[in-house]
Amino acid sequence: MTTLNADLHCHSVMSDGTLTPEALAVRAAANGVNLWSLTDHDEIAGQARALQAAQAAGMKYLTGTEISVSFAGKTVHIVGLGFDAHDPRMAQGLLKTRGGREQRAQEMADQLAAAGIPGCFEGALRFVGNPELISRTHFARHLVESGVCSDTHEVFRNYLTEGKPGFVPHRWASLREAVQWITECAGVAVIAHPARYKFTANEEYALFSEFKTHGGVGVEVVTGSHTAHEASVYAQVAQEFGLAASRGSDFHSPHESRIDLGLLPELPKGLKPVWELVEHRIQ
Ligand code: AMP
Ligand code: MN
Ligand code: MN
Ligand code: MN
Repeated sequence: MTTLNADLHCHSVMSDGTLTPEALAVRAAANGVNLWSLTDHDEIAGQARALQAAQAAGMKYLTGTEISVSFAGKTVHIVGLGFDAHDPRMAQGLLKTRGGREQRAQEMADQLAAAGIPGCFEGALRFVGNPELISRTHFARHLVESGVCSDTHEVFRNYLTEGKPGFVPHRWASLREAVQWITECAGVAVIAHPARYKFTANEEYALFSEFKTHGGVGVEVVTGSHTAHEASVYAQVAQEFGLAASRGSDFHSPHESRIDLGLLPELPKGLKPVWELVEHRIQ
């Protein structure tokens, strides 16, 4: 298993990615991935297709999702891996989490209109693959296509984020709920891209300790959202908190993502790979 190329984080058209589960599987396999997971935001509708496409492409598969959580006034993402995708408790939890996205999107569009950019709700909708999952990414694609910004990174620097036009705070699932849905469905919970949250040291300590208390067992160390330095920082945090380590590109689109599927550095030595905790759940 030393040559394992695990990529356990990416998005399809079922959330805010631009590729189908099938196209992602082909791309992942072509890049050398042999253990894969599709982790759409708050959604598991792509899981059956992803599993089938993974096996057809010769890859092993772990079920996946990325749950939006509100913690200490910010949005934190918790990746679930290896859970039973047929367990109704996961479907019910995610359904509840997805609710309210349309209303939020309407409010985002109202703010953007007030800032002189009308028509963003309809514009964003044109990029949406799953009507229950209109996200900031779809607004970002519309703002790029309509020439307001030159790329999605510029969008998130000037719009849709705290203090900028088009930002609407939202109450997502609680940390306890997200970890509970994953673990009661036989999966493992993983803190996604921890360096992105910009928490204070105290807030971050609270996140990691509460996550462990609720039954969380892993943290993403190597991700498309981390620099090499951030990966080494969170390798140490993983060891301090006794968490296993995950690896995932967070690939969304060939034109937007910094790192392609599977083309990530290896996990730093000495860490427990999170997939070893769910070996019995690999399909
Ligand atoms: P939402 O779930 O609607 O709040 O949208 C969150 C998604 O927006 C994330 O999953 C990313 O795909 C994207 N996103 C958020 N912040 C940024 C950023 N600073 N740069 C690029 N993409 C971002
Ligand atoms: Mn996303
Ligand atoms: Mn995320
Ligand atoms: Mn993601």
